[in-house]
Amino acid sequence: MTQTADPMAGTTEPDLTSLRAVVRGRVLLPGDDGFADASRAWNVAVAQRPRAVVEVDDAQDVVAVVRLAREQGLVVSAQPGGHGATTALDGTVLLRTTALDAIAVDPAARIARVGAGVKWGQLLAALDGTGLVAMAGSNPDVSVVGYLLGGGLPWFGRRYGLGCRSLRAARIVGGDGTLRWVDDASDPELLWALRGGGGEFGVVTEVEIDLYPEPELHGGKLMFPIAEAAAVLQAFAQVTQGAPDGLTCWASFMHFPPLPDLPEPIRGGSFVTVDVTWLGAASEGAGLIAPLRRAGTVLSDSFGPVSIGRLGEVAAEPTTPMPFIDWGGVLPRLDPTTIERLVGVAGNRGRTALTVLQVRHAGGALSTAGGPPAAMTELGAEYVVFAFGVAAVPALADPIRASLRDVAQVCGPAGTARIPLTLLGPGSDRTSVHDPATVARLRAVKRAADPQGVIRGNHPLD
Ligand SMILES: Cc1cc2nc3c(=O)[nH]c(=O)nc-3n(C[C@H](O)[C@H](O)[C@H](O)COP(=O)(O)OP(=O)(O)OC[C@H]3O[C@@H](n4cnc5c(N)ncnc54)[C@H](O)[C@@H]3O)c2cc1C
Repeated sequence: MTQTADPMAGTTEPDLTSLRAVVRGRVLLPGDDGFADASRAWNVAVAQRPRAVVEVDDAQDVVAVVRLAREQGLVVSAQPGGHGATTALDGTVLLRTTALDAIAVDPAARIARVGAGVKWGQLLAALDGTGLVAMAGSNPDVSVVGYLLGGGLPWFGRRYGLGCRSLRAARIVGGDGTLRWVDDASDPELLWALRGGGGEFGVVTEVEIDLYPEPELHGGKLMFPIAEAAAVLQAFAQVTQGAPDGLTCWASFMHFPPLPDLPEPIRGGSFVTVDVTWLGAASEGAGLIAPLRRAGTVLSDSFGPVSIGRLGEVAAEPTTPMPFIDWGGVLPRLDPTTIERLVGVAGNRGRTALTVLQVRHAGGALSTAGGPPAAMTELGAEYVVFAFGVAAVPALADPIRASLRDVAQVCGPAGTARIPLTLLGPGSDRTSVHDPATVARLRAVKRAADPQGVIRGNHPLD
C-alpha cells in the first residue's frame, strides 16, 4: 500500500532507546537487524512504518511502554498478528503480544481466560474434549483479543450472537498506564466499548470469555465448478432462508492462483464452495444441507463430525502472511437478481481480480439486538459479504480495488452499516459502521480512558 504522508514529519524525536531500559521484552528500532521483519503485518500489502516494535514479555512491559509513551508524546498500538493491518498504525510503537500466551479453561464455570497473544487455533485446541465451544471465526491464526475487540463474526453466531457478546471482562492498560481488570460492574462504559468498539481504549493484556455447551459439532466444505455458481447460490439462498440457528453456511467464489505450492486439483482453478457448520445430530444436518448437495456437480464434500480443535479446517483458509486487499459489507437480500449480479461480479475469472468473494449467512442472534451492553450488538443485514484479492504483484492492486468496488455496488447503499470492525476493509470509513449516537458514545469513552490519545487502534475514531 502506498504512503501519502510522512507521519513523523514535524515532530520532536523522542528518545526511543529508553524503551530498552523499561521493558524485559525485545525492542527493535529502525536500523536494527530484524526491524523490517518485526514491523511486518500478516497482511503484507500494508507497508507499516512503526517507530519501534516491542515484543512484550508480560503485562508489566505493556504498562512500562504506555507510561513512557505518555511521557514522551508517543502513540502505542497493539498488533498481535496484523490480519487487520491499516496504515493508521504508522508512526506508532507497535506492541507484539505473542508472549501473552496464557490459556486457562474452567469447564465447570464455562469460562476461559486468554492472553492477548493467543490465537483462536490455540484456544480451540484447548477446548477439545470439553464439549464446549467458543465464538471463533473462520481463521485459527487470528488472535482472540483482536477479533473480540472488533466485534467478531463467529461460526456459531446465529445461535449466540457476535463474538464480542462472549467478552465478560478484560485486563487492560489504560492511556494513563494503569493496569486493571474491568467488567460490567466495575466499568460498564469501558466494557460496552470493548465489545466491538475496537482497540482504541487501552491495551488489553488478557480477557475472560464465555464458553458454550455444544457436544455435537459437524462441518465441512462442499466444492462445485464455478460454472454452476448460480445454481449453487440459489440452493444456498433456499437452505439459509429459514435455517435453524445451529446451521451456518458461507458460500464463496474462489479463484486460486497458479502457485506451485497449491495442490493440483485446485491450482489455478475456479470454484464455488459452501462451508458449513452444524450444531446437532449428523442425520439432521445432512437433511438440512441436502439441497446444496443436489445443486450441482459435487467435486468434493468433507461434511462430517469435527472436533472443536479442528474448526479451522472447515474453511481451510491460508495462515501464511500474504498481500491482501479486502472489503467487507452487508447484503440486504439474496434474491435471484442479487445472485445474478454476484455471479456477474465474481463468477468469471477473466473479469474479476478477486481471489475470494464470500457471502456469509448471518440472521438468528447475529441479526437481532441482544446480549450484554455492547458497541456492536447485531449486524445490519441477514448476509455479510467479505471479498479480497491477493496482490501478488503491485500491478494487481488497482484491478483488485476496482473489483471490490463492483462488490460494494452489489451491496448497495447499506454498504458497511453495522458490520464488525474485524471485516471492515482498510479503506472503509469506520464511522459508517455505527450510528452517530454510538460514535459519539465511543468517543466519550475514548476521552475518559485515554485523554492524551496514547493508544491507537487500526480503525481510529477520528
Ligand atoms: C483470512 C482471514 C479470515 C478472517 N476471518 C474472520 C472471521 O471469520 N470473523 C471475523 O470477525 N474476522 C475475521 N477476520 C478478520 C480478523 O478477525 C481481524 O483482522 C482482526 O483484526 C484480528 O486479526 P489479528 O488478530 O491479526 O489482529 P491485528 O490485525 O493484529 O489487530 C487488529 C486491531 O485489533 C486491536 N487489538 C489487537 N490486539 C489488541 C490488544 N491486545 N489491545 C488493544 N487492541 C488490540 C488493535 O486496534 C489492532 O490494530 C479474518 C481475517 C483474515 C485475513
